[in-house]
Amino acid sequence: MPQIPFNKPFLTGKETDYIRQAVESGKISGNGAFTQKCQRFLEQRYGFRKVLLTTSCTDALEMAAILSETGPGDEVIVPSYTFVSSALAFVRQGTKIVFADSRPDHPNLDLDRVEALITPRTKVLVVVHYAGVACDMDRAMALAQKHNLLVVEDAAQAIDATCKGRPLGGIGHFGCFSFHETKNIISGEGGALAINDPRFCRRSEIIWEKGTNRAEFFRGEVNKYGWVDTGSSFLPSEIIAAFLFAQLEQLEPIQAKRKALWNAYARELVPLAAQGRILLPGIPADASNNAHMFYIVCRSLEERTALIAHLKQHGILAVFHYLSLHKSPFYAPRHDGRELPHADRFADCLLRLPMYFDLSIGQVEEICGRIRRFFA
Ligand SMILES: *Cc1c(COP(=O)(O)O)cnc(C)c1O
Repeated sequence: MPQIPFNKPFLTGKETDYIRQAVESGKISGNGAFTQKCQRFLEQRYGFRKVLLTTSCTDALEMAAILSETGPGDEVIVPSYTFVSSALAFVRQGTKIVFADSRPDHPNLDLDRVEALITPRTKVLVVVHYAGVACDMDRAMALAQKHNLLVVEDAAQAIDATCKGRPLGGIGHFGCFSFHETKNIISGEGGALAINDPRFCRRSEIIWEKGTNRAEFFRGEVNKYGWVDTGSSFLPSEIIAAFLFAQLEQLEPIQAKRKALWNAYARELVPLAAQGRILLPGIPADASNNAHMFYIVCRSLEERTALIAHLKQHGILAVFHYLSLHKSPFYAPRHDGRELPHADRFADCLLRLPMYFDLSIGQVEEICGRIRRFFA
């Protein structure tokens, strides 16, 4: 067991109380009181038009793919440097994925080069806010408007982050969040879909509840419910929602602690960056920092591999991140052959450092000291 793991799920202490309340209420399936509380919380705090809890961000992305009505013959633009689900949700609809490269200075999508990928078949642009740092959403929305595309924000890492003061996940047509245990706010597995375009609100609820108009029935809006559309069982049980609500209530202290850790890393590692040994994560002036992740970019794969081994030797677990999706065993045979050099560089050189609520500033200093010694 390493002394400093990469991640450690944080518990607020209220989770089991709320789960007990849910169990004792006798209502433990989905869309009950705790689900409503979580959805209201996200709608009110961030101004999202409508929020539906899901069992994962992957599910939220699948709902967005269904609501976008993408299918065979359509194309969706997705960054290559992202988690599988950003693309998988659309692959399940039979859609062709056109992978896009990262910016030279940041893993986020290079929006300067997206327009060249748009064809008359393009229906959706998926933007991923890597490490919770905003893509330029004005740019993304302008492209979408010009070419009549829908924008899906994969905001899995972006809870409580903003672009020009506007909450991420609330700017595109859809925003997809994750509450997986590796994220800032957790419920083990869990997610949420923000529906920001009123055209999709009614249908989203039906798709969420197995293609039925059950939610309308329970609100008394229709006098019987039945099968009216496609869909699946995307909603989590009240047990998950109870856990999640305990976390959402503590969002501010959780965020404050993570930001303090993030700032400590940045302060400690600036000298190495100034020497040109590593690249630090840049936060654009109009983006906020939700301290989801602290990463550095090494100069080569060999150097990163040696640094991982050096840290591990001292009981510190640092980990690399995505392998470019256009080179994955599943998608490489389907990819159109374009090189995506920046995605590949982040796949080879990006290293994530330990980041979790229970980490101390002293431990951050210790980790950074080890990194400085590696480069000395
Ligand atoms: C974590 C993550 C996902 C998947 O979230 P799940 O809740 O595990 O389905 C998708 N996209 C990105 C960018 C992520 O970081």
